[in-house]
Amino acid sequence: MARTTRVLCTVEETELEGDHGPIDGVVVTCTKCGESAESFGTSIASIRRCFILLREQCDEENYYTTEDE
Ligand SMILES: [Zn+2]
Repeated sequence: MARTTRVLCTVEETELEGDHGPIDGVVVTCTKCGESAESFGTSIASIRRCFILLREQCDEENYYTTEDE
């Protein structure tokens, strides 16, 4: 049985380097291990994409959450 650990992440809006110049994006950082993931766009879909990337980087099986949700 998998244990779900709720991990708080911080979300920062940033400018990422796109093919045609800077693009608005988000950086999501895991407060537990410090891993971070970037994604283009600032919508909830972009944040969710970062969660998926983080899940591959984090050691544990985690359920990510932000203070906003
Ligand atoms: Zn982590």
